[in-house]
Amino acid sequence: MDRPTIHRLDEATVARIAAGEVITRPVRVVAELLDNALDAGAGRIEITVDGDGTERIRVADDGCGLSRADAERAVERHATSKLPAETAADLTGVSTLGFRGEALAAIADCATLELVTNDGEAVGTKLRIEDGEVTVTNAGRAQGTTVTVTDLFADRPARRESLAEAAAEFGRISELVARYALARPAVRFSLTHNGTETLSASGSGLQDALLGVYDAGTASRSTTIHHETSLAAGGDLSVDGICCYPSVTRATREHVRVSVGGRPVTDTGLRQAVLSGYGSLVAGNRYPVAAIDVDPPAGTVDPNVHPAKEEVGLTAREAIETAVERAVSEALTTADIRRTDAAAT
Ligand code: ADP
Ligand code: MG
Repeated sequence: MDRPTIHRLDEATVARIAAGEVITRPVRVVAELLDNALDAGAGRIEITVDGDGTERIRVADDGCGLSRADAERAVERHATSKLPAETAADLTGVSTLGFRGEALAAIADCATLELVTNDGEAVGTKLRIEDGEVTVTNAGRAQGTTVTVTDLFADRPARRESLAEAAAEFGRISELVARYALARPAVRFSLTHNGTETLSASGSGLQDALLGVYDAGTASRSTTIHHETSLAAGGDLSVDGICCYPSVTRATREHVRVSVGGRPVTDTGLRQAVLSGYGSLVAGNRYPVAAIDVDPPAGTVDPNVHPAKEEVGLTAREAIETAVERAVSEALTTADIRRTDAAAT
């Protein structure tokens, strides 16, 4: 992909963006760095976390990388390559995960940030920001970017104290990476905690992502979904995903994950649509395991409704939920699945 240039957004655009303090805990650092790696076209992303994440978070990608000049611009507040500099346009056309141009600046504000990057030149760039001071040096690196964040919240005692114990903070990170791996099944993900790899998805499809997040037993008892439909309001909707057989259940609904155009979201309505698709096939107070991505027509998704970008606005919400429910229920009620699933239980 062509690497676009970086510029500062004008004040009007900045005001329009539902920004805010996004780095509230370590998982938010990982989320922003994953967004950046995916927006850079990465095919492979390695995430390394020490302790609860405040010690060290590192995200390495093989994406387009940054030139030295762009690396220096990238860490400025409201500097982005993802929106035009002057945009009165609304943000429904935005196809990138990021668009506010503030994540790197916000992270550098409350941590030490080191960015090593190469956009295909002989020599790469290492940019380090510590206590607001920026140093730039040469660095050897293949094309791509590695961002290392250390001493997060070192001078933010209140924020530090509001964090849970290390296992719980890492649990949030692990769940986040699972959501990304399932939303982007063509990308290779690896998550390492305190030196041990805890999740790895090889980037060869949804079943493989499910295998990386769960285990062989879970992944093998699943069926993939591909469903296309035209919306009454115009445009096409596709529903893609993977649904475990109804006999594969969990105690919480967190194992039903949804994404919109490859962006993981926490969307109660879409999750409920998946649950409705399972209907009474999953009994009582148990929940299924599924990952569903919906891809609505361009211009009908508003990514700018939530500071952490975890929710999106959907113009055709009702039609989309109906399509998801139908796609899931049709996939699960084939005679073939009933027979296999009955044999397994
Ligand atoms: P945003 O993602 O909203 O644009 P960020 O502060 O996260 O804002 O990043 C600023 C800019 O830095 C991005 O627009 C992009 O051009 C560049 N950038 C950040 N991370 C990467 C990366 N991993 N690979 C390539 N470019 C990156
Ligand atoms: Mg970003």
